[in-house]
Amino acid sequence: MVLAQLGGSISRALQQMSNATVIDEKVLNECLNEITRALLQSDVQFKLVRDMQTNIKKIKGKTSVVMFVGLQGSGKTTTCTKYAYYHQKKGWKPALVCADTFRAGAFDQLKQNATKAKIPFYGSYMESDPVKIAVEGVETFKKENCDLIIVDTSGRHKQEAALFEEMRQVSEATKPDLVIFVMDSSIGQAAFDQAQAFKQSVSVGAVIVTKMDGHAKGGGALSAVAATKSPVIFIGTGEHMDEFEVFDVKPFVSRLLGMGDWSGFMDKIHEVVPMDQQPELLQKLSEGNFTLRIMYEQFQNILKMGPISQVFSMLPGFSAELMPKGREKESQAKIKRYMTMMDSMTNEGNSNPKLMNESRMMRIAIGSGRHIREVMEMLEEYKRLAKIWSKMKGLKIPKKGEMSALSRNMNA
Ligand code: GDP
Repeated sequence: MVLAQLGGSISRALQQMSNATVIDEKVLNECLNEITRALLQSDVQFKLVRDMQTNIKKIKGKTSVVMFVGLQGSGKTTTCTKYAYYHQKKGWKPALVCADTFRAGAFDQLKQNATKAKIPFYGSYMESDPVKIAVEGVETFKKENCDLIIVDTSGRHKQEAALFEEMRQVSEATKPDLVIFVMDSSIGQAAFDQAQAFKQSVSVGAVIVTKMDGHAKGGGALSAVAATKSPVIFIGTGEHMDEFEVFDVKPFVSRLLGMGDWSGFMDKIHEVVPMDQQPELLQKLSEGNFTLRIMYEQFQNILKMGPISQVFSMLPGFSAELMPKGREKESQAKIKRYMTMMDSMTNEGNSNPKLMNESRMMRIAIGSGRHIREVMEMLEEYKRLAKIWSKMKGLKIPKKGEMSALSRNMNA
């Protein structure tokens, strides 16, 4: 599918969504299905990769070679180790080969990561021919009965013709079963030309999008998918080895549309909100009725819940602004401050934010021992969240497990 068609089907889907008077589950799902079709436009290719992921292990004695390519700095080397570590946990016997002789320090980086994960690695400080290293590495690990040999190559830019030729030679010599194109989620529309250049030199069969923990929504992935006619299989969500997830199209698209991870959130609600509070909360939300009381109760639940950043990252609107990653302690303190102010608001006998004026805000500030500026900030936060949650009005609340089953079906 060419980019114009892909763009066309996505705008059509969004158009349908914006024409709808109420964004209910049906409208949302139709939109997501449409975009999913566009994203996974090459069903055959997708099945091939999925089968490779799941079935190859069953073919006894068969080793698969996976080659990683991408621009320098895209997160390729980090992703190689994440990919190896992911499969190691699933019972594979992976190994890493550093065929990046271009960037000084590339071998050290891979070696360090591999050692941490206890994954065998191969590379050389002396040898400057990446083809030779790649071939030797693959041979070595085949003899050691590794069943997944991952070859990291130098990062390159589409104008670097010599490096592209070198990458083609590495591919020809190692005959990878799969070539993975790694892209940074912030690359944007340039992704199309870059991905296409890689596809023209080696047969890219899958895409991994990195740095999804940052601000970028990863829209460039759509272009990379279109250019390589390959599906996204994993996303990177942090610098650490285990910050790596199987690509799930639904949360990805929800994020692209700025709607949060709705299905993950629903599952989380079922998991963490006490059973007796669930029906009432969901009912209120489906009425588009996000009150200060609800915000307070959710803060309470969240504070009780443990690794709160996980839950936060799924709540529409809660993630980046209120709860930046890595600053959980500060965010937690902020939530507690908000709650003290809200307590004082209830004591004040007025919890309707619409009736708030300066003297009331002042009384709340004094009552809670905070500055009026902070009361205003808390109310602003409430307004921001209420606006986002008002989009949920009319939503048919799925029962436990329904949403995740749905997203699984979409990926099947
Ligand atoms: P390469 O040049 O493509 O091999 O890129 P590297 O693997 O050296 O990664 C470049 C930088 O991106 C490093 O600082 C990595 O820690 C960082 N990085 C890689 N993947 C992710 C990710 O998913 N999230 C974040 N936040 N950083 C990442």
